Amino acid sequence: MLVIRDDNAVVGVNKNHHPNRQRFTAAHELGHYLLHGKAAHIFVDASPVFFRDEQSSEGTKTQEIEANTFAAELLMPEAALKEILSSKPVDIYDEDEMADLAKRLKVSVQALTIRLAKLGLVSV
Ligand SMILES: [Zn+2]
Repeated sequence: MLVIRDDNAVVGVNKNHHPNRQRFTAAHELGHYLLHGKAAHIFVDASPVFFRDEQSSEGTKTQEIEANTFAAELLMPEAALKEILSSKPVDIYDEDEMADLAKRLKVSVQALTIRLAKLGLVSV
């Protein structure tokens, strides 16, 4: 979760979640803070509560996509992925290879799969 009120911001993660999920959550909330936090006096991003002053639900959906994209770029930079894959290509259908790469990057296999597909680095 992220709560911004005026000049104060707090990010919280669930300690019971897997560390990879905690990292993605923190990166996602950092994305909200940097991309959207300045536009609102009060901004709350916490399931099941989402509140942004003067935001439509469509605007909220767009912000979620942008925060997820920010998190993916922060945790799995395109240049780093290209360098890794240039020395050792990964087969997206090989569960062991994907698990190894995800572990190296400290992300979930799901997040890695989406990132690789979006970058066009693998075919799905
Ligand atoms: Zn969010």
